[in-house]
Amino acid sequence: MLERTFSIIKPDATKRNITGEINSMIESAGFTIVAQKKIKLTIEQAKKFYEIHKERPFYNDLCEFLSSAPVIVQVLEKENAVADYRKLMGATNPENAENGTIRKKFAISIDQNSVHGSDAHETAAVEIKFFFSDVEIVG
Ligand code: ATP
Ligand code: MG
Repeated sequence: MLERTFSIIKPDATKRNITGEINSMIESAGFTIVAQKKIKLTIEQAKKFYEIHKERPFYNDLCEFLSSAPVIVQVLEKENAVADYRKLMGATNPENAENGTIRKKFAISIDQNSVHGSDAHETAAVEIKFFFSDVEIVG
C-alpha cells in the first residue's frame, strides 16, 4: 500500500547546500516528493514539534538547532514509506549508521544529523498536518 511520511532536511544540511544531493538519494530510493517547502522554524514551532522529547537533557539544544537556520519540510510517498525512509536515513548517531544511508554520508554528529523522518504511520499523519494543512495524509 502506498504510504506517506514526513521528512525534514535539517539546518546543518541546508547550510551546506546539500539539499539537492539528499533529495537525489530520496528519489533514487523510490520515494516521490509529494510536497516540500523551505521555511525557518521559530523556537516555539521546534519545541512543539519535538515535544515528545521535552524531558530529555538535549531538548533545548535540539530545538535551538532545528530553529537555527532554514529547513526543508517535505512529504514523501512510497510503498512502506515510514519504515523505508527510517532505513534510508540510518541510525540517529551517524557513527552507527550503515553505508548507503543519508546520515552515514552527510551527518556531522548526533545533534547535526541532517534529516528527520516520522517514526510511525500515526506520527507521520500528525507531522504532515502540522506543516501542510493542505496535503492529504494518503494519496
Ligand atoms: P529524528 O526524530 O530527528 O528523526 P530519530 O528519530 O533518529 O531522529 P530521536 O530519538 O527521535 O531520533 O531523537 C530526536 C533527535 O534528538 C535526534 O535526531 C538527535 O539529533 C537528538 N538526539 C537523540 N538522542 C540524543 C542524544 N543521546 N544526545 C544528543 N542528541 C540526541
Ligand atoms: Mg524521532
